[in-house]
Amino acid sequence: MNAIATADVIVVGAGVQGASLAFHLARRGASVLVLERAAVAAGATGRSSGFVRMHYDLELEARLAWASYPYFAEWAGRVGEGDAGFVRTGFLQLVPASVADALRANVAAQQRIGIPTDVVGPAEVSLLVPGIVTEDVVAAAYEPHSGYADPTGTTAGFLAGARRAGARFIGGCRVSALALNGERVVGVESDRGGFQAPVVVIAGGAWSAELAATAGVTVPVEAWRHDTAYFGLPEGRSADLPIVIDHAQEVYFRPEGRDLLLVGLEAGNVIGGSPDRPMAALAETTVEVMVERVCRRLPWMAAGTFRTAHGGQDGITPDQRAILGPVSAGGPDGLWLACGFSGTGFKIAPAVGASLAEWILDGRPSTVDITPFALSRFVEGRPLVGEHPYEALWR
Ligand SMILES: Cc1cc2nc3c(=O)[nH]c(=O)nc-3n(C[C@H](O)[C@H](O)[C@H](O)COP(=O)(O)OP(=O)(O)OC[C@H]3O[C@@H](n4cnc5c(N)ncnc54)[C@H](O)[C@@H]3O)c2cc1C
Repeated sequence: MNAIATADVIVVGAGVQGASLAFHLARRGASVLVLERAAVAAGATGRSSGFVRMHYDLELEARLAWASYPYFAEWAGRVGEGDAGFVRTGFLQLVPASVADALRANVAAQQRIGIPTDVVGPAEVSLLVPGIVTEDVVAAAYEPHSGYADPTGTTAGFLAGARRAGARFIGGCRVSALALNGERVVGVESDRGGFQAPVVVIAGGAWSAELAATAGVTVPVEAWRHDTAYFGLPEGRSADLPIVIDHAQEVYFRPEGRDLLLVGLEAGNVIGGSPDRPMAALAETTVEVMVERVCRRLPWMAAGTFRTAHGGQDGITPDQRAILGPVSAGGPDGLWLACGFSGTGFKIAPAVGASLAEWILDGRPSTVDITPFALSRFVEGRPLVGEHPYEALWR
């Protein structure tokens, strides 16, 4: 391989995960090269709804979200470049009777690790969201400190911070294969030539499996399609609303600025297919289903207006949790994974990047113990399951 540049670590992909990892590695003094086939935040990140909340049914993910929260809330002090655009709105997760006990147990576990969260009932929900229908809501988790952030701004800020600490970034550079020397990764091949490093991290979102396959490694990540739409709030309706995940209706919504509502569906997201297929515009039926579900919960949205919609995609794994760490058994030394974030990887990116940088540089993660996210769990038949599980998030 004729290398045109060398580094301690090559990060493939400049989504929020690649950028956060590059930031944390570079800040620790590692020489980092970030290679991105398109542009910063061109994948899932640029389409993300930006929810920053702590509620999960797996405590480890709640820990990652909570360890990430200070970055969003105190961006300037933590990263010092750009702006994550965090807006504190509060967060509500509404659940029906079938999972109310699981929600109560998850909230209690999250309180034990210090997350400000409470179980509230329909009366409190009505105070937080004027005009909301709560007949079928038995319980809700409420997080007063949560909100939403700007995923592209967050990524650009992390990357600027990484570059300030010496990292190099090459956009428009598609990595075509991993370069191996026997049982070791020694760099990558790309349409801009070869690059050398003893450590390569695939943070390639929905494209991660195809790149890992060039080193003979099977990574169970498929493309997961998810569309969102923006609706104008009716005249006189305030955007002063919390972000809401409506478990019963399989829909979520949040304010966007002062006059829009962003809506996403949790059901009907296509899994599989090539990550390179065109991002066709949303089907009319998708928008109709969104409208129907939102109006069932917020009848006053019937006077709202459709503004625009877009499609996005992330990599999804069989247990709908990320794959993090070295590929280990059966794979080449020096090859690491940070992929398969399964539609919920934005809010945890700061702590994932910090923990993975520690694992690479110190031999073990210390911010949060992310070792249970290793690829080997799939081979060993130990998928990650929530302590008080809800059904699979994406159906
Ligand atoms: C519509 C939508 C809404 C979402 N909403 C939320 C939310 O509200 N909250 C939340 O926490 N999460 C949310 N998510 C999930 C979250 O956005 C993703 O989990 C996260 O952005 C993943 O980041 P990433 O860096 O792993 O992947 P990506 O952002 O997809 O980045 C991967 C990058 O790698 C590049 N790449 C791939 N292959 C190569 C290659 N061979 N060579 C060079 N570059 C390559 C791609 O171009 C891409 O830029 C949402 C996702 C979608 C799609």
